[in-house]
Amino acid sequence: MIPVTKPFLPPKEEYNELISGIWKRGWLTNMGPLANELEATLQKHLQVNHLLYVTNGTIALQMAIKALGLKGEILTTPFSFIATTSSIVWENCTPVFVDIDEQSLNIDAAKIEAAITENTTAILATHVYGNPCDVIAIEKIANKHNLKVIYDGAHAFGVKVHGKSIFEYGDISTCSLHATKLYHSIEGGFVVTNDKELSQKLAKIRNFGFDGPESFAELGINGKNSEYHAAMGLVNYKHIEAIHNKRKKLTEAYLTNLQGLAAVTPIWHSEASKNYAYFPLVFETEEFMLKCIDVLKENEIFARRYFYPSLANSLPYLDPISLKVTDAIAKRVLCLPLYFKLSNKEVNVICEVLLSIKN
Ligand SMILES: *Cc1c(COP(=O)(O)O)cnc(C)c1O
Repeated sequence: MIPVTKPFLPPKEEYNELISGIWKRGWLTNMGPLANELEATLQKHLQVNHLLYVTNGTIALQMAIKALGLKGEILTTPFSFIATTSSIVWENCTPVFVDIDEQSLNIDAAKIEAAITENTTAILATHVYGNPCDVIAIEKIANKHNLKVIYDGAHAFGVKVHGKSIFEYGDISTCSLHATKLYHSIEGGFVVTNDKELSQKLAKIRNFGFDGPESFAELGINGKNSEYHAAMGLVNYKHIEAIHNKRKKLTEAYLTNLQGLAAVTPIWHSEASKNYAYFPLVFETEEFMLKCIDVLKENEIFARRYFYPSLANSLPYLDPISLKVTDAIAKRVLCLPLYFKLSNKEVNVICEVLLSIKN
């Protein structure tokens, strides 16, 4: 059986070693030494100014919206994981969906201005599959209309664009370190900002709003993460290069072998590095794609329709709207298996199966 993804697991001894330290110290959570070490490690690795390690990528988004004091309408993408939209609704704001660009599959910057109203306060965009949004155009629009920008960078760990970390863009960028992600700490996530004061505010929000043992500065939440999760993050960090290289190799094998298949990959940002977080294909027709899913399944290979359906017309708590490009793409997109333990041989088998299917 080949699943669409498998979490990376480091050698058990490496994890056990850090766990022994936790036992000795008796410090299990609340900004412990491992959580602080992970924060410093990631901050240095990503070359960002202020990074806070949190419980997961969803709380990271909610904390970002809260910290920026957003109200009213937030312009966002319908082509993302549910947490991008649900966080906006959870924070009592209104998501306003802007259609996506059919090449990058990210929010179409050229369509943002038309969606701005007097109630718009921010743009929340996802770097889909780790492919950077048009960060320059979005920054220009945000400056012109006095809007805040949050980037959901859950897929974008390690990506650089225009020579710097993707997490440097926007007022706040978030990431998920969930087990299914490229680099993970089982559950986990982080928020990044260039603004020191905003970072201090986020730190208080993460810890119930505490401003000292007996005083509160903010409305807060519990966004802390544990020493056990941080330990996994630190151990997995040592394998980041190996993970990257393996995924790169597998992606290249897919690309070489799948020539001739009636499907294309999204167009990557021309000034960005890649992290090989996913292997998405946009098929020429939904009919052919569904056939491919079935035949792959018969061969015990499980691809995933990611992201389908469009968030703009599938949520019970929002009025459905149709968006031309999103609707057309979402029903034709499929992510093929991609994970560290996947072998070149298995990729070859997946490709052979796909190429044997008649369009
Ligand atoms: C995974 C993911 C999230 C949520 O992250 P969690 O850590 O699972 O809460 C948010 N946005 C996107 C785009 C994701 O893929």
